[in-house]
Amino acid sequence: MHHHDQNRFLKLENHLYGMIFYAALGMATLCGVHDRADGADSSSPPIHVVRQGETLSEIALDYGVSVDALMSWNQLRGDRIYKGQKLQVGVHPLSDWYVVKSGDTLCEIALQYGISTRSIQKLNDLTRDRIYPGQRLRLRQTPSQPKGKVVHTVKKDDTLWAIAQRYGLDVSELKNINDLTDDTIIPGTSLVISEEIEDSRDEPNERFEYVVREGDNLETIGKAFDVGVGLLRRLNQIQGDHIFVGQKLQLRPSSLEEGVHVVRQGESLSSIAKKYDVNLQELREINGIEDDKIFSGQKLRLSRPSSSTHIVEKGDALWEIARAYGTTTESLRKNNDLTSDRIYPGQELRLDKKEAEHFQLYTVKEGDYLDRIARLHQMSVSELKQINCLDNHVLYAGDKLKVKPILTKSTEWVKISEIDWKDLIISVEGPGRIRTGNGPYFYSRPKAQRQSHADYYEGPRLTTLQSYRQAQKLWDAFELQVERLGRLSDALDGWHFVLDPGHGGLDPGAVVPSLDGNGHSVYVVEDEYAYDVAVRVYVLLRLHGAEVTMTLLSPNHLIRHSDPPTMTFVNEKNEVYNSYELNKSGQWKNWPIGGRNGNLSSRVHIARSAFKGVSKDRCIFLSFHADIDSNESDAPAVLYYKSRKSKRSDETSRKFAKALLPFLGAGAEARGQGLAVLRDNPAQHKVLLELRNLAYTDNAWAIRFEELRHRDAEKVVRGILAFVKNRTVMAKRY
Ligand SMILES: [Zn+2]
Repeated sequence: MHHHDQNRFLKLENHLYGMIFYAALGMATLCGVHDRADGADSSSPPIHVVRQGETLSEIALDYGVSVDALMSWNQLRGDRIYKGQKLQVGVHPLSDWYVVKSGDTLCEIALQYGISTRSIQKLNDLTRDRIYPGQRLRLRQTPSQPKGKVVHTVKKDDTLWAIAQRYGLDVSELKNINDLTDDTIIPGTSLVISEEIEDSRDEPNERFEYVVREGDNLETIGKAFDVGVGLLRRLNQIQGDHIFVGQKLQLRPSSLEEGVHVVRQGESLSSIAKKYDVNLQELREINGIEDDKIFSGQKLRLSRPSSSTHIVEKGDALWEIARAYGTTTESLRKNNDLTSDRIYPGQELRLDKKEAEHFQLYTVKEGDYLDRIARLHQMSVSELKQINCLDNHVLYAGDKLKVKPILTKSTEWVKISEIDWKDLIISVEGPGRIRTGNGPYFYSRPKAQRQSHADYYEGPRLTTLQSYRQAQKLWDAFELQVERLGRLSDALDGWHFVLDPGHGGLDPGAVVPSLDGNGHSVYVVEDEYAYDVAVRVYVLLRLHGAEVTMTLLSPNHLIRHSDPPTMTFVNEKNEVYNSYELNKSGQWKNWPIGGRNGNLSSRVHIARSAFKGVSKDRCIFLSFHADIDSNESDAPAVLYYKSRKSKRSDETSRKFAKALLPFLGAGAEARGQGLAVLRDNPAQHKVLLELRNLAYTDNAWAIRFEELRHRDAEKVVRGILAFVKNRTVMAKRY
């Protein structure tokens, strides 16, 4: 191995350490164990000795970890460090395998290596937590490579390095596979990227290429791979309809073509410019950056958006885009040769003149800043400035700005958006309401307005039974209020839903830091997010006539009207199972808890009683999550049950999952997994929704915003309505 390659390898390792930081935070309380397990003898955490003139952020960059992580590992108060100082720069050396010692638990091993129990289970095909001494556990996957036979046709300006980057390969690997002796590549020739045939995914790989066969035409290929003819033409620089046998067609935009970059900790504007091969000054201008200051999580556009196109970002759904530009999905499909509602990150959608000039007025709030407003409306800062003729950054509360109304109301959805969610704040006798920035809260909580550190939580003061009684009272009042809103349609009449907010009770799920507008750390908590989104989905489903049951209830809050968004999350460990039976004994073990010795089956139990007497094919179970999984994409995922052992999958739910994808947005995926909460679940349609992946800073940023949480809820309900409508149409036809 050349020295150069070795460096690359180290970089990859270090990058993994960065991911571990998030995972470790997420798990701190999941296992109920706070101190790291011993048994880390020969393998201690990696150490860096500070050299003259080095700064903390340089070291963070070098090791691919965040400054926050360095500060917490080394208990630093500020960013001052000195020459010779020894700094822990990673959680633990990550080897591929671990041999189980007597007394080890899965949870402790996971904690020790900073990975989730779920991913160890997944990697080792474990159905339970049980492990035995001497057992060899795989701790990580070999770096994931594109699956399926993948070839890349060399384009005019391609370099070997750029191609390798694009497919996540080393230049040397790429040269090996293709027997190249030097770096010369010839436009028009093809390079093999991966030769593996097996592809377990439902979707063709995003980098998939297709070799044209006899009898193919653009339309049949487009239909077969669910990609519009227009996009096929653009990706392959085809003018008309002519293709030839043996021609390789690119089927998806690559990540470099997605047109946006989310800044990671330690990156600089110039390193990003270099990475994407764009001019630094151009990058500054596109993003309205004057002083080269960027922050982690910031979204940068890499090309100048034309006013007559919408560049699809991960998570954009066609219905949202239609709404934003005051048009219909039908018209967008027609103008862009789309065969379905599925769109892909990086895809450019043509807008007609009327659509392109469709703006809405946004009223600037106290403490707003341009980047936040731009991101909320999926615009670049320069776009925002240009449209509003702004020449400086000073904004005043009450100013009105023209924005793309991605997240607000129009067309047929208008009815739902017109609901004033403030109407759902309860003021009844019984649970006393207290005024807070992140309310409505009831009784005497929360003590804090925001999650100030990863381990913060408000311990349960009540027994499960007391908590359940309080939650019931609150929920009854809430239901009454929802009832008063009336109905928007009867579309879901006769359908019964069980909504399962992931985690809750003693299990917060993922806890990750995010930066607020002032660069301060704010922690977001998965279970609080899941609960908020589930309650929003609850309301929307009820408005269409559905019966809905929650698996968990909180005694202290409902929908969070959080403004400012920093005040969104305070982890409360007081959600209880929505069942008198499960709470009446008032025992500690009745609190919802995940992981080892968890009581996930209680959720299934609640579903079973809720679905009793309902026609099976009208039962839908939805579990809401926003986990950390750095091996997966940052777009939403819908998981259905697939047995680890027999590999048999729940086909009905798989179809249901796939039907939801276009509504969840570009890049959304469906996949099978052996999930306990779905296994013995009586619902015919049952899925677990990973609506956000908190391994990505942009997602951690987003979930603090009420507007974006509402957007997530709407996506789910949109998908459900379309699924049910489609089935009704089919039923009538036969
Ligand atoms: Zn989760």
